[in-house]
Amino acid sequence: MLVFEKSRPGRGCTLFPPCDVDVVTPSDKDKRESELHLPELSETEISRHYTELAKKSRGVNDGFYPLGSCTMKYNPKINEDMASLPGFTEIHPLQPEHTVQGCLEVLQTVEKYLCEITGMDRLTVQPAAGAHGEFTGLMLIKAYHESRNDTKRTKIIVPDSAHGTNPASATMAGYSVVSIPSSADGCVDIEKLKAVAGDDIAGLMLTNPNTVGLFDKNILEITKIVHDCGGLNYYDGANLNAVMGVVKPGDMGFDVIHLNIHKTFSTPHGGGGPGCGAVGCKKLLADFMPAVLVEGDAEKKFVKPKHSIGEMKAFYGNFLVVVKALTYIKTLGKEGIPQACKNAVLNANYMMDKLKDIYTMAYDQICMHEFVMSLEDLKRKTGVSAMDIAKALIDNGMHPPTMYFPLIVHEALMVEPTETESKETLDDAIAVFRKLYEQAQKDPEALHMAPVTTPVGRLDEVGAARNPVLRYKWK
Ligand SMILES: *Cc1c(COP(=O)(O)O)cnc(C)c1O
Repeated sequence: MLVFEKSRPGRGCTLFPPCDVDVVTPSDKDKRESELHLPELSETEISRHYTELAKKSRGVNDGFYPLGSCTMKYNPKINEDMASLPGFTEIHPLQPEHTVQGCLEVLQTVEKYLCEITGMDRLTVQPAAGAHGEFTGLMLIKAYHESRNDTKRTKIIVPDSAHGTNPASATMAGYSVVSIPSSADGCVDIEKLKAVAGDDIAGLMLTNPNTVGLFDKNILEITKIVHDCGGLNYYDGANLNAVMGVVKPGDMGFDVIHLNIHKTFSTPHGGGGPGCGAVGCKKLLADFMPAVLVEGDAEKKFVKPKHSIGEMKAFYGNFLVVVKALTYIKTLGKEGIPQACKNAVLNANYMMDKLKDIYTMAYDQICMHEFVMSLEDLKRKTGVSAMDIAKALIDNGMHPPTMYFPLIVHEALMVEPTETESKETLDDAIAVFRKLYEQAQKDPEALHMAPVTTPVGRLDEVGAARNPVLRYKWK
């Protein structure tokens, strides 16, 4: 039942103190034209309503959540403890710098560590999400070319195995997108890249590992081709847990990078909570960085880079997310960071290996933090689609993997176990996948009905997307 349907006129839970100021009646022009309908409930009812909703939703605390390209991992609670220290929560963004030196040190230290991990020279934590970071990075590239009066560069190269936000961000930044296909091994087609590299190219955006979970083996050649034609290289490092502590994008010829702090560096991802798409860059772009950066040693100050592209978000981004990232990096340390990375890659390869005798892998080679299977064969033989398997996983206590993405693989299921799952959890998940494969052969009809254990079954997803009902209509 919706919260509106539970409402009873006159019910509520607000007790105002007696009014001790003059009562002002607003003029007609300031008044609403229609009545303000808000649900009226007691506190008990509200509390029960939201608890009931919370129980119906699934998160990482309910079970395995292998949503590929999203890194839905368990994040240590100590991060939350640190982020709720009053020294961090009870400050105001307009406070004078000398009263918040500790917070400036947090920003400065995170910048230092993330620059070390990525091989960059400067880093901002202002952007609020990965896509926001991409847009920021592209604005840096644009500012760079403009500063050199190199205005004919109007295109950004985006391989077709890029995350979907890459072409969108390039378009938002005012560029036209040149899409290049992948070759059969899932990597960038070098000949196709050479064919489009020219003096109209502002840069290339490379998602690495790409959305089929592969580390591009030609990465050094790719960045060189782009540099040779005068373009800059952008590294989509949203899934840095696949490489962190092992290789640095800065060493591979990249000039600018974004990281999803809310995937790799331990802020819960999903639910629309605050995130951070930190952007790092090489020296040649540092003067264009968004305002403000922290500088200074004994006395730290906010400074605006000389040719700053401006502010990408109010103040200093989602600061408490940065506190969590610092806690995470400090807890793992120099040994733990590469270990987390290797575990993420190991877990994905373990699952892939235990499934590839029955499920067709889109690319049968060592993967990074995630792998993609194609259920095209299964669908042809049994009628059971990627959607059917995904929905049946829910009935078996698992959140579905990413479905029908990347677009270059048909009937795709993209699985990212993450580094935080135990072997037992992976074995259970493998057993479920295998069981569903058997069931697809014996009783495909049952799988078309899944899920059957949830409050609602198979939804009309197209209808929901085309004709969304976003407002409650009071009778
Ligand atoms: C998640 C992701 C993004 C987008 O990040 P948001 O925070 O959702 O905007 C970009 N690129 C890749 C490779 C991703 O996995």
